[in-house]
Amino acid sequence: MPVVNGWKLSDKPLWALGTKQSWGWSWRLVQASQPRDLPGVERVWLEVDPEYLPDREALEEWAMDSVCEATDGCRVEPDGICPHGHPSWLLVLGYI
Ligand SMILES: [Zn+2]
Repeated sequence: MPVVNGWKLSDKPLWALGTKQSWGWSWRLVQASQPRDLPGVERVWLEVDPEYLPDREALEEWAMDSVCEATDGCRVEPDGICPHGHPSWLLVLGYI
């Protein structure tokens, strides 16, 4: 099992999964061989390069700062989404 920046991963692809809620989008990080959609549920699956996974230190810095990285490496606000549609790591990892 590979470990990337302190995260234990399986060999399956890593995804940022967005699910539409009444209040907006909720995000989480999922490892799965392929995206699976539920009927009637609006979802976004974005494949994430595990190399971009931040370590705890970076996450703590971002949580106190006003900039954060998105799952594709762009700079965004801590609760932001980059122009390519990728959410911040703080959103995906449930820090916000
Ligand atoms: Zn981007």
